[in-house]
Amino acid sequence: MENKKIVVLTGIRPTGRLHLGHYVGMIENLIKLQNEADKLFYMIADVQAFTDNADNPEKVRNNVLEVALDSLACGADPSKTTIFIQSEIPEIAELTIFFLNLVTLARLKRNPTVKAEMQQKDFGEDVPAGFLCYPVSQAADILFAKANLIPVGEDQKPMIEQTNEIVDTFNRFYGEVFHHVKHLAGDTPRLVGTDGNAKMSKSLGNCIYLSDPDEVIEQKVRDMYTDPGHIHVADPGKVEGNVVFMYLDIFDPNKEEVADLKAQYEKGGLGDVAIKDRLAHVLKELIGPIRERRENLAKDPKMVMDILKAGTEAARKTAMETMREVREAMKINYF
Ligand code: ATP
Ligand code: MG
Repeated sequence: MENKKIVVLTGIRPTGRLHLGHYVGMIENLIKLQNEADKLFYMIADVQAFTDNADNPEKVRNNVLEVALDSLACGADPSKTTIFIQSEIPEIAELTIFFLNLVTLARLKRNPTVKAEMQQKDFGEDVPAGFLCYPVSQAADILFAKANLIPVGEDQKPMIEQTNEIVDTFNRFYGEVFHHVKHLAGDTPRLVGTDGNAKMSKSLGNCIYLSDPDEVIEQKVRDMYTDPGHIHVADPGKVEGNVVFMYLDIFDPNKEEVADLKAQYEKGGLGDVAIKDRLAHVLKELIGPIRERRENLAKDPKMVMDILKAGTEAARKTAMETMREVREAMKINYF
């Protein structure tokens, strides 16, 4: 156990470009782990994207390249990380089918993240079966690779729990094939949206994207919530629940100055414009270089697709090995 190899897997749904939530919740850790882990997988989860975008194949297809560009621009390094497309690995679908027998409908309905997303999407009883079952498919995403460390945002924690339950049941029925997996949280497990909503999310339209031009970043910061009671510069303001300060805490490298600004804001005499200007500056410094690298990569989409093709071929090999083991354990290795 002590010398166990670290195999990392994480993923992104091709439903839109990458935003700051992805950056702090998942990408930052993936990049760090590139120097520590024995093996890394990064999945573009197009199959999962279809669970709530079945009627929009164009959107899913176009965003495969978009998220690949963003991820590479952030520093995902194809020489260290196997970047692949989920739908090209049929073994994941196969594994999902077998895992579905290890999970009850009641358990699926209890998953708090799925529950919240179903409400948000207003599915009610008309939830697509594939959507309700996507945590099972996620268990297959993780386990085909025998990954054991999963850097993801807080919303993904219930998926990790459900994966471990599937591991237990599978091993009990068929013998020891899989091992428990661990969730790795980023410094910011859940970044709030620019509107103050609990989560920055593509579906909620409250995102600052890693490809946003400077003017757009400035505009989005200008529109952020501060303290509604802070009307005049001289008024004392609230720091708690103030989205601008939440972001400064996360993104401003100068913690001492932020602490001073907070004190000044609470006392009165510091305007919203000043703190917003500072935040816009900090975010432009962070996003600018990523956006530039992205623009360069975007000039050669074929090169990017070649990276995905090579990664997908490598992931497929791993998947086939795992499936051989699974088939043997399940006694369905007939020929
Ligand atoms: P969608 O609304 O289409 O589901 P999303 O914005 O939730 O999009 P995903 O592709 O579902 O993005 O998430 C990819 C990864 O990024 C997951 O690990 C997720 O936990 C993480 N993540 C997404 N949003 C945030 C956030 N606001 N804070 C921290 N992590 C996040
Ligand atoms: Mg999501």
